[in-house]
Amino acid sequence: MTGITGLANGVEVSAANAAGASPLEGGPAPDRQGDTVGSSPNSVLNSLNPADGAVVATLDADDVSSVRAKVARGRQTQPWWAGQEPSARAAALGAWRRHIWARHAELADLIHAENGKPIDDAIIEIALTVEHLQWAETHAKKALASRKLNPGALFANHSARVEYVPLGVVGVISPWNYPLYAPNSGVSAALVAGNTVVLKPSEYTPAVARWYVDAFARANPQLPPGILQIVVGDGAIGAEVTRAGVDKIVFTGSTATGRRIMAQAAETLTPVLLECGGKDPVIVAADADPAAAARAVAWGAFTNGGQTCVGVERVYVLREVRDRFIDALLHELKGIRPGAGRGAAYGAMTMPSQVDVVRRHVEAAGAAGGTFLVGGPESVGERFIEPIVVLDADEDSACVREETFGPMVTIKTVDTLDEAVALANDSDYALSASVFSRRSGDAIAARLRAGQVSINTVIAFAGMGSAPMGGVGGSGFGRVHGVDGLHEFVRPRSTVKQDFGVPGFDLITLRRASHVLPLMKRVLAKRHS
Ligand code: NAD
Repeated sequence: MTGITGLANGVEVSAANAAGASPLEGGPAPDRQGDTVGSSPNSVLNSLNPADGAVVATLDADDVSSVRAKVARGRQTQPWWAGQEPSARAAALGAWRRHIWARHAELADLIHAENGKPIDDAIIEIALTVEHLQWAETHAKKALASRKLNPGALFANHSARVEYVPLGVVGVISPWNYPLYAPNSGVSAALVAGNTVVLKPSEYTPAVARWYVDAFARANPQLPPGILQIVVGDGAIGAEVTRAGVDKIVFTGSTATGRRIMAQAAETLTPVLLECGGKDPVIVAADADPAAAARAVAWGAFTNGGQTCVGVERVYVLREVRDRFIDALLHELKGIRPGAGRGAAYGAMTMPSQVDVVRRHVEAAGAAGGTFLVGGPESVGERFIEPIVVLDADEDSACVREETFGPMVTIKTVDTLDEAVALANDSDYALSASVFSRRSGDAIAARLRAGQVSINTVIAFAGMGSAPMGGVGGSGFGRVHGVDGLHEFVRPRSTVKQDFGVPGFDLITLRRASHVLPLMKRVLAKRHS
């Protein structure tokens, strides 16, 4: 690399022939750049280890013309791919899945280096990914098979069916927090349904995505190019994907970017699926097992350093059980520390600008009357943030209203279940929500506004291939996973055929016989009165 044209947090983008500054090597995290670099020709993108700033990988960055060329290639290949038997597409996913699992140790090392999460968490991410791949392989054929339809009384001489037709080329734009799992949710369903895919991963974790895309080709050398391609770059390149004539955009990322993508896609009426941010609540009811709730909250709030869209950010605990819940939570968090080593509970903040958000929320918590039960302002370091637990901050505070996306959780004491439900639902976000209760879990869960609700557990749905996942309100719309997730990548096409004529009884003719309407009325009178 000969010169740097811009620096993002954890990302360097450089024009190959530019002269100037030296590469980033460790030291303090740089400021975030604008999102326009990386779209010039001959650019490369260095992804950096968030724990120490070391270069993990250098990738060729795409520009406008290469994005368009890749979408065009995807379009060229798509009819061939869609024409394969569903079982052949499933077999390609199966070969890919086995290849990924066979090399999971190598991939886990890469995820650890590029995203910062501990190796064990990287292995869990890979495990979830291969499970989802297998679900898609196993269920797509039946879920997307054409179905016979009842033609109804007026057209009984017809037969009808609905077929599920792939959309074409799908653009998948993904985040850095689950650099394998998040893109795979859209990619696996889109591919098995007969679409080709252009994947634009986060500029913070492009090497994991490169590995994932290359693995598809390595596992399936007999397939033509263009089925699954990657484009590398920052948000400006993501914007190009939305303008490049793809047939659907699947976006996973922040709500702010989701809004921009929807506006960009509106120019061409390109449909979008938006998996955005969350501020997920947990209700701990008076009849909850406080130790079980604390164990789940500790994991749900701090796994992946809180950088989980469906992570726990708010807890509403009934006064009767509060002290026992807090004692259990403090016990759970004893010795829990971030770090880059193998023993760490979670890793560095992947995107250093997120550190500023957490710092602001910690300050807001203090200003809003919150008591720090664990950690405090001193817990926020340059790259690592120690666990932070805040009790009873004002509900209007930014630490309760905005997505923190860091290792911090707020706890609010409530006097009634109605208050807990009202506060849990009082958010611009509505991604997922949980309740802990021995007797009333189902009834409380039914009152929660969220894309998915959990009873006496958190986040488990994300590991189930069958469970649709997505948001409500500011958390987005559309679903990945399950049969509903597969249906996001096809359009229903109805086919209607006249099987035999009924001379003299035609309804849809300009020369309708005079006895037809009276006859129809007699039939309908019986059916509709
Ligand atoms: P982000 O919105 O900053 O970026 C996500 C992706 O969008 C990146 O690839 C980025 O390059 C691209 N992008 C940025 N601007 C763009 C534009 N104008 N047009 C097209 N693409 C553009 O999000 P992030 O920081 O990478 O991820 C964290 C966010 O993702 C959090 O809010 C988290 O809650 C959310 N998330 C949601 C889910 C879910 O399933 N709902 C899953 C994981 C993460």
